[in-house]
Amino acid sequence: MDLLDTLTDKGLRGEVPTREEALAVLATTDDELLDVVAAAGKVRRRWFGRRVKLNYLVNLKSGLCPEDCSYCSQRLGSKAEILKYTWLKPDQAAEAAKAGVAGGAKRVCLVASGRGPTDRDIDRVTDTMAAIREADPAVELCVCLGLLSDNQAERLKAAGADAYNHNLNTSEATYGDITTTHTYADRVDTVQKAHGAGLSACSGLIAGMGESDEDLVDVVFALRELGSDSVPVNFLIPFEGTPLAQEWHLSPQRCLRILAMVRFVNPDTEVRIAGGRELHLRTLQPLGLHIANSIFLGDYLTSEGQAGHADLDMIRDAGFEVEGAGEATLPRHRSDVAAAGSSCGTAASACGSGGGCGPCGGHSSEAPAEAAAEALSEAPSESHSDQVKVRRRGAGTELAPNA
Ligand code: SF4
Repeated sequence: MDLLDTLTDKGLRGEVPTREEALAVLATTDDELLDVVAAAGKVRRRWFGRRVKLNYLVNLKSGLCPEDCSYCSQRLGSKAEILKYTWLKPDQAAEAAKAGVAGGAKRVCLVASGRGPTDRDIDRVTDTMAAIREADPAVELCVCLGLLSDNQAERLKAAGADAYNHNLNTSEATYGDITTTHTYADRVDTVQKAHGAGLSACSGLIAGMGESDEDLVDVVFALRELGSDSVPVNFLIPFEGTPLAQEWHLSPQRCLRILAMVRFVNPDTEVRIAGGRELHLRTLQPLGLHIANSIFLGDYLTSEGQAGHADLDMIRDAGFEVEGAGEATLPRHRSDVAAAGSSCGTAASACGSGGGCGPCGGHSSEAPAEAAAEALSEAPSESHSDQVKVRRRGAGTELAPNA
């Protein structure tokens, strides 16, 4: 049977493809691209209809992180001219969250830079969640504070958090190339802690750090095995002033292939197009909606996205609809798994500085020669850093949030 027919049939049954089939998706040609999108679209519609879940980022604490994640504009030694500020007060965070919810967001993602929270930080986030829920009791709250210590996930759960984000970012084999201050195993441990406490696990990846196709497939299968309920797919935003500033490897076509591979491996999981959507998918963003069922509304942690109303226009124009507060995101059988979190013990999430992680350089691709040649033609080596728009509005500024 043809590859795409096989992947579609498996996806419609909720079955995971083989590793070889996942790799073959990444090796498809531009001539096959619309067929790949159509096949992934059938799987997406089987489990998520035409709904698009909107998520809204609130950066509670920006910059000045002691960790050295190469992809991150907030890392130790970053020269990126991002906003830097310490913890927002609960009412400030609630004001930003309110703008996102008013713009159509169903989930608010509360993120703070740093290796991990202190117990005092958990208190701060507890107060912040209470302030947000006072204005909107129904809003979903996802927290992203880095590596968790014992009992912190349980405290967040008791305080009303629905989910915890901690991205694996890249494969175990290459993790040490992108970060030296913590390990892949540390990230897995935090995802498992969150899941074990009954929090829904949000854990994803960053593409475009120079990784191989094998690395991408490895991390996506690892996320599936960890039981991540939502998989954010970040496309590297190469901030000037970070070690990966020159890593411009992605084309819109490559991004769509990556999204399709993630969808086939996670047919019934929320797949979210995350940081770098505007920068790398560009005019092909609407095609991404045929594969992913979730996006961030408005701005990212340290960079600006397109205007919130442009996100809404794009969803409507492409024939999709914003998922309402009363609608379940995951199919029923996945919701049951999420609710049973502590008995499953397989979920994971990772640091969510909204953009991914990991660097890389130099991993050779094992794609067929034709695909490799195509990849080369897709990989401009010059810097495009003037295209990266540092966030100057919303949380931490006097200007209104983009939502
Ligand atoms: S990804 Fe998180 S832990 Fe890593 S440098 Fe950025 S804020 Fe710090």
